[in-house]
Amino acid sequence: MSKLSLDRILQSQGYGTRKYCRSLIEDGEVSINGEVHDNYKETIETDGLVFRLFDEDVVYREHVYIALHKPQNFECSRKPSHHPGVLTLLPEELSWRDVQPVGRLDHDTTGMLLMSDDGAFIHAQSSPKRHVPKIYQATTAEPVTEGLVQQLLSGVQLHDEPAPLAAQTCIQRGEHQLEIVLEQGKYHQVKRMLAAAGNHCSALHRSAIGGLELSALGLAEGEWCYLNDAQLALLA
Ligand code: URA
Repeated sequence: MSKLSLDRILQSQGYGTRKYCRSLIEDGEVSINGEVHDNYKETIETDGLVFRLFDEDVVYREHVYIALHKPQNFECSRKPSHHPGVLTLLPEELSWRDVQPVGRLDHDTTGMLLMSDDGAFIHAQSSPKRHVPKIYQATTAEPVTEGLVQQLLSGVQLHDEPAPLAAQTCIQRGEHQLEIVLEQGKYHQVKRMLAAAGNHCSALHRSAIGGLELSALGLAEGEWCYLNDAQLALLA
């Protein structure tokens, strides 16, 4: 059981700054069980809370689930060393939450990065037992050959791995373009697999995680959005 003031509740669900949320409440936009609540200081039990805003019922969520279109030259580390951290791309209004990236993309990799303040979600998504496919678009320095595709599909040996790692799917998309689907999430996996197969990855983009496609979210580089239940279900 936990109680929060109404303005903090609205803000925590992603409706904008504290000031804006207060104005929505004072304008009588928020109701609970058919009754308008216009005092933003009112504290309300959040367990099982459903409120109505803009003519829609909103089920309160304790945590936030975010998809970011990561640009190049941002680090996923908590303590970035050479480039700004991805957390700097989130707005100030989220700073009170302990939002963390789910897994990592290299500083020069672009594409979909999940972020959340739900430790159980982060842990479950990052677990090696989880086999959610991650789809990468790789640009290769040398032209793609059928032999390269076959090697990636049958498995390549990385020096610190006990067994060869294979792509779940590998499709040539252009002379220097490969779409690679991986179930594991090993360190620099795509780049190291391409190097082990005798090529070199010159650019990398993650276009989807599970059934959630970055293109469907309509995010430009550096933009982010909250994920709703239907979108989260695509990550299962
Ligand atoms: N594989 C890589 O080599 N780098 C990434 O950022 C993600 C997967």
